[in-house]
Amino acid sequence: PTAAENANLTDGFHVLVQSLLKNNLDKMYGVIGIPVTDVARIAQAKGIRYIGLRHESDAGNAAAAEGFITGKPGVYLTVSAPGFMNGLIPLKEATENGWPVIMMSGSSSRELIDMGEGDYEGMDQLNYAKPFSKAAYRVDKVEDIPLVVARAIRAACSGRPGGVYIDLPGDTLGQTIDATVAEGLLYQVNDPAPAQIPAQSVIDGAMELLASAKKPLVYIGKGSAYAQCEDEVKQFVESIGAPYLAMSMAKGVLPDNHPQNAASARGMTMREADVVVLLGARLNWMLNFGKGKHWNENVKFIQVDIDPTEIDNSRSIAAPVVGDLKSTVAKFNEYLATHPYHADPAWLEAIQADSAKNNARFSGAETADTVPMTHYNALGAIKKVTDANHDVYIANEGANALDDCRDIIDMYLPRHRLDCGTWGVMGVGLPYAIGAAVTTGKPVISIHGDSAFGFDGMEVETICRYQLPVTVVVLNNGGIYRGDFKNLGDDGDPSPLTLSACAHYEKLMEAFGGTGYYATTPTEVEKYVAAGVASGKPTMVCCELSIHAGKESGHITYLNPQPVTGPL
Ligand code: ADP
Ligand code: MG
Repeated sequence: PTAAENANLTDGFHVLVQSLLKNNLDKMYGVIGIPVTDVARIAQAKGIRYIGLRHESDAGNAAAAEGFITGKPGVYLTVSAPGFMNGLIPLKEATENGWPVIMMSGSSSRELIDMGEGDYEGMDQLNYAKPFSKAAYRVDKVEDIPLVVARAIRAACSGRPGGVYIDLPGDTLGQTIDATVAEGLLYQVNDPAPAQIPAQSVIDGAMELLASAKKPLVYIGKGSAYAQCEDEVKQFVESIGAPYLAMSMAKGVLPDNHPQNAASARGMTMREADVVVLLGARLNWMLNFGKGKHWNENVKFIQVDIDPTEIDNSRSIAAPVVGDLKSTVAKFNEYLATHPYHADPAWLEAIQADSAKNNARFSGAETADTVPMTHYNALGAIKKVTDANHDVYIANEGANALDDCRDIIDMYLPRHRLDCGTWGVMGVGLPYAIGAAVTTGKPVISIHGDSAFGFDGMEVETICRYQLPVTVVVLNNGGIYRGDFKNLGDDGDPSPLTLSACAHYEKLMEAFGGTGYYATTPTEVEKYVAAGVASGKPTMVCCELSIHAGKESGHITYLNPQPVTGPL
């Protein structure tokens, strides 16, 4: 056909891009190649910001960060087979975290896959994606592209959010359709996550249980951060006068310096609390499944969650409240306005006294000027910068680098901390930093152990290419957990835990035109991190730590099985 005959035709590529834009999905992360190269090119030309990363896992994690921060699904694009499989890891991680994300992958023609004819990068991707996602769809007709995008958004955002897969066979992208007909097929999803309000009787029952509490505790999880219910949670927590604890990524839903924050007396608070209100926090491994020596043996739970099957996950729940957090906590507040409840002030005072004692015990390590540095004083130096810049986003991964950062760096704003998450994974730090920087334009400090940095370190090139306001910090203690482990055999190789102590990771940033600093003292760490944040430019601070700093498996040593016959 001549150009004139094609004039009113459009194709799968364009309909896909229009369908995304129609739903305000205006960013796309990815790694391109056959058959999706032109998806990215056309997306960019039509006003979608395309961010090309260096690995599909990173593209997916950057998109997932956007999903967590905005509540809108992040979108990422991969090529077939190997690219697709790399993309499944963040898809599953986002699903575990309960974050909305849409993975789109190019794929082969159905007839070649279904007949097993051995196509280039041929793989039955739809079926491989299913167990790793909340929902998975293949679109075989250009007319269905608007629908598949709409379904993906609905599936990603409604109920417990998660990762959705769209399989894009190359020949669907190449199909043509009359442009006016295509225009008419576009549609915008109405209210992708409608309010789900529990019945009044359920609210009443939960609040009656709370009224019986002698030692109430509110546990805030990242579901609350995601649900953007910080105003409702603040009113709830302050009106009942209970202590609260925040899960890692719920830090900042209320500012960490809030007088009711029980973080520094976590052990005592959990052991003594008799009624615990769970606001978007699962009773999974991170909360010891709600049972055992960490909890009061008579504790009763009021559990608010949007997913009904989460209730009774690991133990009996006295008051299940199934609904969305924003509406539900507002309903709690409405109830409390007419039936006020206030915890005995002695309970909070006891926690505050225990906190003061614990803080005095630990603060020395954070402010010490000993060198070589430990995680504590290096992070104590970074804390000075974050305390002066509350809107800085923190991405964080590692073992000790994760645990100590979570404990030391206070968060003041919701959804500003992104870390290893529900699975406790690595390889998420730099992509989360990229997703946060692209989404918000705000400064990000991305704090990694040297081992964690290895999983996603090539993304410093991406940070430089897009000139993102990210300051990357590597806390280098020369190994996985620590740098002083010995090879138990005699072949002379480094131990399985050993990495390069005293390496100059900052030179990676310099290689791509960013600024690199090497810090050996807390004063230098503070100065260089502050300079990176103030510059708004790609910066990296490599911090030389003692190879003896850090604990094997960080705070979760108990999860590491020990050989019964000893190490050899
Ligand atoms: P954390 O790791 O911080 O403890 P989890 O990811 O374990 O948090 O738990 C978050 C919970 O919040 C999940 O069970 C999820 O279903 C729930 N959730 C997510 N969004 C909402 C929402 N809008 N309303 C209610 N619950 C939600
Ligand atoms: Mg290390």
